Amino acid sequence: MLKKIVIAIDGYSACGKSTTAREVARILGYRYIDSGAMYRAVTLYFLEHHVAVTNPKEVDRALQQIRVSFAVSRKGNSEVFLNGLSVEQEIRQMRVSAAVSQVSTLKPVRLAMVDQQRKMGKHKGIVMDGRDIGTVVFPEAELKLFLTADLLTRAFRRQRELLERDEMVDLDQVIENLMERDRIDSSRTESPLKKASDAHEINTTHVTIDEQVDEVVRLSLSAMVAGRTATS
Ligand code: C5P
Repeated sequence: MLKKIVIAIDGYSACGKSTTAREVARILGYRYIDSGAMYRAVTLYFLEHHVAVTNPKEVDRALQQIRVSFAVSRKGNSEVFLNGLSVEQEIRQMRVSAAVSQVSTLKPVRLAMVDQQRKMGKHKGIVMDGRDIGTVVFPEAELKLFLTADLLTRAFRRQRELLERDEMVDLDQVIENLMERDRIDSSRTESPLKKASDAHEINTTHVTIDEQVDEVVRLSLSAMVAGRTATS
């Protein structure tokens, strides 16, 4: 039997990381974890409880009250829960997208999330997507991917996703949010978004989701076979 591995998928916002990661996990029978959903859930809590991100005491107190978990819905999708309630819909709203990168710069927030993410990957057999998965969370991951795509392609995809959730957002607003998040995510002091030196870069601009998934499954199988050869 092939050894279970950790697959880390990083990249800019709206490059198709989650869609690819979810489908690859389904095909391989792996667990899928959307680490961005965890930061979004924390952000939703901060917004709803008016937590001032500039006040370390308030942030610490809030983190003690927050429990983020995942469960598989009746439709078979992995959903994120905040203190026992599914918040999968709420965390995708623009108000959360507008605040999440700021919240994600905070060291205590990152420490709490990374700790939980590492526990979830302890037994391998996991696909996790985010910004620092291959660099910080699982630097030893057997397969690391870094996805990129043209800004406009990403914006169109994100706008379509929002429309599917009945949220109508102008394209220029979507573009602005993606650019702002990329800027904050790449320039923050704690775990900035960057390509791990041993990550495979995939540009998804002219690639369909099916082609993207096939490529990642192929790379995953190669990594599993390489792991078996290395240990046998
Ligand atoms: O993946 P998604 O776009 O939903 O992530 C939302 C935000 O969460 C990112 O823009 C980033 O600020 C933060 N994030 C992070 N580290 C991760 C995943 C997401 O800082 N591993």
